[in-house]
Amino acid sequence: MIILKAKPVIEKRRAELIAKVQNLSAQGKRVPHLSVVLVGNDPASQIYVSKKETTASLVGFTHESIRFPSDVNPELVRLKVQELNQNPAVDGILIQRPLPAQFQESEVSLWVHPEKDVDCLHPENIGLLVTGNPRFSPCTPGGIMLLLDHYEIAVQGKVVCVIGRSAIVGKPLAALLLLRNATVIQIHRATQNPAELCRLADVICVAAGSRGLVQESWVKPGAVIVDVGIHRTAEGKITGDVDVNSVATLPSAMSPVPGGVGPMTIQVLLENTFTSALRKR
Ligand code: NAD
Repeated sequence: MIILKAKPVIEKRRAELIAKVQNLSAQGKRVPHLSVVLVGNDPASQIYVSKKETTASLVGFTHESIRFPSDVNPELVRLKVQELNQNPAVDGILIQRPLPAQFQESEVSLWVHPEKDVDCLHPENIGLLVTGNPRFSPCTPGGIMLLLDHYEIAVQGKVVCVIGRSAIVGKPLAALLLLRNATVIQIHRATQNPAELCRLADVICVAAGSRGLVQESWVKPGAVIVDVGIHRTAEGKITGDVDVNSVATLPSAMSPVPGGVGPMTIQVLLENTFTSALRKR
């Protein structure tokens, strides 16, 4: 079985990105700048933001994190984002999710200017994606496509089962797969006979947030599995949405957790920020 590790993909793409940033610097041009907005003290969000900061530095971007307490009035955050929208030295803005209950997701996704929306969550960018002319790549789904491309797994004409329909993973992933001419089956909580449907798939992408959901009976022999799920066990181990022992040697390729889709997401975020910086010149 081929293990779809992020490491070689990241090493190659990061080196390319570093070279492009150095090239900008050599020409005396400003390097890309990423602004991250973090509200509250969610421990997982703190880790994700610090990973984004470290990686942005590593590729030579400038960056800043703007932190607010968990009980902040959303209007204060909106005004700050508006200021970042108007600042020509800012190329990409990301509002770290989840947000506290006083924030309305449908409103927040309108705050970041679509041209700086490197997380690809603004309805205008979702519309461009669905109509086949994406401005940015949605980060996690885009990372999945980079992973599949690196290991030369084509989806054209294949049956791909996407498990999950969230705004950040399932829905934009289905849109990207359709752009690549895959036949997409989308499974969600209300789906009847999910295992039977999933067993039709040549490629399974699971983003359900349900530990060990995909078992032997869900997998056609030889299928490729991409596991997006992230769970921390009581012993502190990180696992995914696939029951790895149950599917055993059935798949022809499978992404590991950790070390599969996770690191790809930040890579796409940085590539989107670079794209945004170039467009503004
Ligand atoms: P979410 O909770 O917003 O959505 C989960 C989706 O899965 C829903 O559409 C739901 O209908 C479906 N679902 C849940 N249980 C199901 C079941 N038993 N059968 C069929 N469908 C089911 O989750 P999300 O934000 O899309 O995240 C999903 C998982 O991916 C989580 O574990 C999350 O931590 C992980 N994640 C990883 C990355 C990354 O690696 N970079 C990024 C985002 C999310």
